Amino acid sequence: MLETIELQPGPFQEPRDVQVRWRRSARARLVSLRIDARAAEVVITLPPRGSRKSGLALLTANARWVVGRLSALTPVLRFRDGATLPLGGVPYVIRHAPEARGGAWLAEDGAIVVAGDEAFLPRRVADFLRAEAKRRISESVSRHAPLLGRFPRAIRVKDTSSRWGSCSSDGNLAFSWRLVMAPPWVLDYVVAHELAHLAEMNHSDRFWAQVNKLTPHTDAAEAWLKKNGPALLRVG
Ligand SMILES: [Zn+2]
Repeated sequence: MLETIELQPGPFQEPRDVQVRWRRSARARLVSLRIDARAAEVVITLPPRGSRKSGLALLTANARWVVGRLSALTPVLRFRDGATLPLGGVPYVIRHAPEARGGAWLAEDGAIVVAGDEAFLPRRVADFLRAEAKRRISESVSRHAPLLGRFPRAIRVKDTSSRWGSCSSDGNLAFSWRLVMAPPWVLDYVVAHELAHLAEMNHSDRFWAQVNKLTPHTDAAEAWLKKNGPALLRVG
């Protein structure tokens, strides 16, 4: 359930309307609160017997933090003619070519050229980025997997809001297509992280030793994702 709630961030500050999404979870033990950067919402999760009152109390106690986080969100970057978006950390401009045919492609001058009717442009850019993500992630997996001697059963590209990658116990890897916008060493780190889970299904020292065999960028990439991840979630 989504609800608009007026929040007072501080004693002398203007109240602000925030969007609150209420969730109830059978697995939650305590009431919790997080920011969904993509939706620009506060998500309050209640345990099975948690009351709305306890959720509101947590929200009020964190009002300053919530309003600060929501205000800091980068605006949504929509796919339209003339918009600039990063691909592999490099800016590309979307260029609409109504007379051209053939979907979307990269031009040599740093443009993503999109053919066809303008109404389909956002969909075409999204499809192009997903395909490009699949290509770059698969290429990174092929480069790193032999070094570990572990190979995934399948690689999937998804749109996830809370994780950049995941590894299932039966050896399937999944990644967010949004990683295609990050610099290549960040994408490589996420690939290395999930591949290492094929060897170690935990975050033990042995796991990190496997990751560090594959990339020297662990700390920098984690920091990059922490800083820039919310903006990537607001694209498209
Ligand atoms: Zn992990």
